[in-house]
Amino acid sequence: MRATVADYDAVIVGSGVNSLACAALLARAGWHVCLLEREGELGGAIKTAELTEPGFRHDVFSAWHPLWVGGRAHAELGDDLAARGLEYLNTELPTATAYPDGAHALLSTDREANTAELDRHAPGDGAAWRDAMDEVGEKADLAFGVLGTELWSSAGASLAFSAVRRLGRRGLASFSAEVVQSSRDWLETTFRSERAHGLLAPWVLHTGLGPDAAASGFMTRVIAFAIEAGGMPVPRGGGARLVDALVRLIEDHGGVCETGRDVERVLVANGRAHGVRVANGGVVTAERAVVCNVTPPQLYGRLLADGDVPASVRDAGMRFRFGRSEMQIHFALSEPPRWDGDERLGKTAIVHVTPGLDGVSRAVNEAERGLLPAEATIVVGQPLTIDESRAPAGRGLLWIQLQELPWRVKDDAAGEIDVGDGTWTESLRERYADRIQSRLARHLPRLESSILGRVVLSPADLQAANINLAQGDPYSGSLALDQNFAWRPFAQQPGHRTPVRRLFHIGASTWPGPGLGAGSGTLVADDLLRPPPAKRAAGRLGALARRGRA
Ligand SMILES: Cc1cc2nc3c(=O)[nH]c(=O)nc-3n(C[C@H](O)[C@H](O)[C@H](O)COP(=O)(O)OP(=O)(O)OC[C@H]3O[C@@H](n4cnc5c(N)ncnc54)[C@H](O)[C@@H]3O)c2cc1C
Repeated sequence: MRATVADYDAVIVGSGVNSLACAALLARAGWHVCLLEREGELGGAIKTAELTEPGFRHDVFSAWHPLWVGGRAHAELGDDLAARGLEYLNTELPTATAYPDGAHALLSTDREANTAELDRHAPGDGAAWRDAMDEVGEKADLAFGVLGTELWSSAGASLAFSAVRRLGRRGLASFSAEVVQSSRDWLETTFRSERAHGLLAPWVLHTGLGPDAAASGFMTRVIAFAIEAGGMPVPRGGGARLVDALVRLIEDHGGVCETGRDVERVLVANGRAHGVRVANGGVVTAERAVVCNVTPPQLYGRLLADGDVPASVRDAGMRFRFGRSEMQIHFALSEPPRWDGDERLGKTAIVHVTPGLDGVSRAVNEAERGLLPAEATIVVGQPLTIDESRAPAGRGLLWIQLQELPWRVKDDAAGEIDVGDGTWTESLRERYADRIQSRLARHLPRLESSILGRVVLSPADLQAANINLAQGDPYSGSLALDQNFAWRPFAQQPGHRTPVRRLFHIGASTWPGPGLGAGSGTLVADDLLRPPPAKRAAGRLGALARRGRA
């Protein structure tokens, strides 16, 4: 079956943001790329659709783009994408928490306002906020460097050396201790007010962690800093505009993006990948790289044949663990949501509804023990606060996320819902969504009378929509410490190279993990576009010679 002349330089499996960014970077550098997607649409966990009612444009899965806008792919491709119609909108009110007693805490993009807000809850917390953010800022190159570097590489080693040079041995010891600290430990030793804890703790859910997990403190600080500095950008018209612009960029550089193409096998000969076989027949060959945006169980249990990789790697890939499951609820409303209390809540992009740090911790723990949480953290996204084009004038639209759910439900922590056989049936999904809706109605008294449409996606629906969201895990794999950082996707094969030459592994399951930053796609594009060592050495010699002549 092997073609004498390969069809493409690179074939990319899957069309998530990592694949699209990787393909765009390669295509722009002159590579002939082909991207194959098994579903009917490109974009993976980015999709915008009129899900509920005509004129209401919902971001069905992901919605918020600070990771993309703050990432390197955007830095490199942003102008090209803007030229293809992509425009980002932003807000000064990115997040808040609404508590059951009617109190609230807000975080804006203004350092002074945030200092005053935290002082309002406990005098002295404002100064603690300023100090904490200054400290993240001073080490931002290291903190964001860790999150944007191929850790098992010369770049990873040079980041470690520069950290030693800058911080010294003791400084490095304390920086690395900060990296593994839990969110609870950081919050409780930094801020006096429980309102401050409750403002920040829910954000660890967006990194796949819980507030008591290792490294959740580091993620809390980095996110707090990023939100204050960068707000909550979204593309005008919906997340799909990013996909559209990336696809246009790829195609403008001669690349090909195809849907309905389920890749079932990576073709390997002599320890080297040279193409893929598609389920409904056909082979696509690639001369320089096969890049797979899949989970480890799919890569090692489906796409590679027995014997392509050592059994120890294959077994470890098959044991890769998925994290908690997730539910989405989309509402179309006849009027804008009116929050009880501060009117700024109605202008805030993401409001978390939770009793606070202990509430998040309890709900995470219940989900991890197989229970429907009694009082889940409700992530209330309000995209219309930034982009009015998402719904007809005068209407409301909510994007709700519930990140503390089990895949197999053993029971209901509140003792109210009969969970049946524990699978996510339509009835279980709707009854759990009803509970969330009535809790929300305590903060939004006119919610229930203004609902025009509601669409709920259970963990089972997420898995059915995208094979990478296995078990309804929005982050394609647990981010527990042993599957994170230098151990992602798993300790026996960390990073993006695989035991098969020219076969690369990208996607949320791989480092730097989930989110719209396109980190893994960018790192692999870097790797592929880097000149081979011989050329690099020749380049260095040439530079030395030129310097000698000067
Ligand atoms: C509900 C939800 C909300 C989220 N909200 C946010 C948010 O607001 N902000 C944020 O930054 N992140 C968010 N995330 C996380 C973020 O969206 C994902 O981590 C990211 O989009 C994953 O991108 P990816 O490149 O890994 O691939 P994915 O988007 O998972 O796409 C992978 C694609 O590969 C395809 N594929 C897999 N196997 C094959 C095969 N064998 N052949 C062909 N095609 C294949 C799949 O069909 C899929 O389309 C959210 C995730 C979810 C699920």
